[in-house]
Amino acid sequence: MRLVQIQPRSGSRPPEVPSKLPGIPSSAGAGGTPSEPLPVLLPSGQALSPDLRELRDLKNLEEILKNARELIRDLSFPTARAWAAGGGTSVAFFPVYTPHEIAHSLGMLPVTVHGGGEDLEITHADAALGSFLCSISKSTLELAITGCLDPFSAYVFPYICDVSRNLEGILCRLKPGSATHMLHLPQNFTSPATIPFLVTEYRRLIAKFEKVSGNRYQASELTQSLKLYNERRRAIEELSELRRKEPWKLPTSELYLLERMGDLLPPEAHLPLLRRSLEQARERSRTKRDAVRVLVVGPFCEQPTPDMLALVEEAGCYVVGDELNMLHHWTPTVPLDGDPLENMARSYVQTPVDIGVRATPIPKGDSIVARARAVDAQGVLFLTAKFCEPALEDVVLYRRGLDREKIPYLHMEFEERSTAYEQSRLQIETFVESVLFD
Ligand code: SF4
Repeated sequence: MRLVQIQPRSGSRPPEVPSKLPGIPSSAGAGGTPSEPLPVLLPSGQALSPDLRELRDLKNLEEILKNARELIRDLSFPTARAWAAGGGTSVAFFPVYTPHEIAHSLGMLPVTVHGGGEDLEITHADAALGSFLCSISKSTLELAITGCLDPFSAYVFPYICDVSRNLEGILCRLKPGSATHMLHLPQNFTSPATIPFLVTEYRRLIAKFEKVSGNRYQASELTQSLKLYNERRRAIEELSELRRKEPWKLPTSELYLLERMGDLLPPEAHLPLLRRSLEQARERSRTKRDAVRVLVVGPFCEQPTPDMLALVEEAGCYVVGDELNMLHHWTPTVPLDGDPLENMARSYVQTPVDIGVRATPIPKGDSIVARARAVDAQGVLFLTAKFCEPALEDVVLYRRGLDREKIPYLHMEFEERSTAYEQSRLQIETFVESVLFD
């Protein structure tokens, strides 16, 4: 097992970090001719050692949470910069599902970029993307334009919606020296061609990663990576189970930070932090509140701010199930016998995960009812990103199932830089009262 060795694989080439970015077209859209370069506005974030010891060695749960909060707000991507300082290459993956294990097996640091969050002001991306698009698309482009994504050597966008598909095209023009890739994901889960199709897609990605990393793909390395990622998924599952049974010991606003931290760290560094957190969270002596158990549905791609999640809980909810950080919940475990690419493809196809960017064999209305019952939820909170079509379309179908079974729900929309917390608090408190006293 490679649980302690977290240095980049030898032979990895350091990324070529341009001192200036090529400009985006001055008239909106990616189809124009590049104009004058924009200034690079890379923020000066914290510097970490190449072995990430500042994070890896954290012992105390409160300390881990504090560092996680700081890390996910640091738009200079300190872990990717540290990885580059150690001679490695990093890949920026857009949510929701991407095969991090493949990058890991090639000695690269896989990072999920969840947009810019509440701190990034959009000053350039608005010129390239319509005002009716989700925040994550604009903030991700803003990060690219302003140089924040420079520590990465490759950018991968899964084809989950038209927005993510077009972002890949824009990045491809914006960063001509880097590898960009659009990962096609199957939607037909019954055809015999589905799994070979996805394996071929993985192989297309591997060919690009081999060039960027300077390492050759080896099935045995990928199997080792899968094993490690399985262990991490198991640790997250145990944390989620604690949250489901005793949410006062580990509220979702904290579980979220622990999971999100892993989007920026190699699993070798993340896994021990999760295990320490689980041990300490179990021992917490906190008083159970009189709160409503809810399932949060909708934020599978763009994520609400940690403050927003904390507000949901402060306003009287225990979030006992959610669609946050979906990558960590995609499949409980990937089998290790046989061809690892086929195992990954099969796990992707056969997972019971039912979210807005994935077709499922059972009707959406039945699915939401089953999911609410599985976590013993008293209600459903639809927390959808503004202008996220895949999430918004499903709300209509989900509501039919909930209405039929008389399960209460509340629908709220959010944006990355949303500050209308007081209004949201009022809505949630009213919802909680209606569930408690009806
Ligand atoms: S938030 Fe929704 S619309 Fe925006 S990129 Fe993600 S899935 Fe697509």
